[in-house]
Amino acid sequence: MIEKIGVIGAGQMGSGIAQVCAVAGLSVIISDISADQLAKAVAGIGKNLDRQIAKGKLTEADKQAALARIGTGTSLSVFADSDLVIEAATESEDTKRQIFKALVPNLKPAALIATNTSSISITRLAASTDRPSKFMGMHFMNPVPVMQLVELIRGIATDDETFQAIKALTARLGKTAAVAEDFPAFIVNRILLPMINEAIYTLYEGVGGVEAIDTAMKLGANHPMGPLELADFIGLDTCLSIMQVLYEGLADSKYRPCPLLVKYVEAGWLGRKVGRGFYDYSGPTPRPTR
Ligand code: NAD
Repeated sequence: MIEKIGVIGAGQMGSGIAQVCAVAGLSVIISDISADQLAKAVAGIGKNLDRQIAKGKLTEADKQAALARIGTGTSLSVFADSDLVIEAATESEDTKRQIFKALVPNLKPAALIATNTSSISITRLAASTDRPSKFMGMHFMNPVPVMQLVELIRGIATDDETFQAIKALTARLGKTAAVAEDFPAFIVNRILLPMINEAIYTLYEGVGGVEAIDTAMKLGANHPMGPLELADFIGLDTCLSIMQVLYEGLADSKYRPCPLLVKYVEAGWLGRKVGRGFYDYSGPTPRPTR
């Protein structure tokens, strides 16, 4: 039975995962290399829970109980009694491999590991641990407290016990699972990211400006968010990493990352999380930059 969850990475995804686990009654410990980011994550979770109280979905007592179930730390030794550690650090295979290598000596033998990677091979990441049979992909969507789906991805070595435990946890968190095979970017991002990349090409080639492209897809295809707004929301570094995984993993030129996306990432314009991407978020309403 999974009762104690560890979360690695206190960014937008890690904090969302910690929030839904704590609200579901699980005890959670979050770790990040940045103490600042940890403090921001806990403050952000408090604010999100306040919003749920305002909507009548939660009581003040529920909020206090959830917050009391969340601990933080900058060392991986905090995961010594975790039943499951969910990795939600930066989308880089090198970073994730290094994390897993350093993590496993801190875990109890029965502990499971899940990764929230958006695109990287589960089988390859599992091979960097001492327990590929107890490792799988658990891909939450952003924002985690709002989005209903969790993609579940088995590596070649994942055993059925691990899969069933993670599937049961997904249901306990009130989420719906979709099972995907271990191919680059799985289901959601295999379809979504090439569309976002194409929207950036559309901007790059001058077919439309930022506002025209987003308005066109919102009103013309009934998408709740325009593709450029969505790219900023995901994080342009994450979008670029996913396109690179698709391009390299499927060896097809149709997945070539748009040079404009590369430029934005090189400039540090990573989207909403840094205040600038295809929109500028410094004012009261986001302003298109092109
Ligand atoms: P983010 O940039 O908001 O957060 C990443 C966090 O990882 C940062 O707080 C950073 O300090 C931390 N980190 C980096 N190296 C670390 C290390 N060695 N040890 C511990 N912490 C470390 O990114 P995010 O959007 O939260 O994405 C995290 C993961 O979730 C990625 O794998 C991404 O692909 C995946 N994901 C993202 C989205 C999305 O829409 N952004 C959706 C689903 C899945």
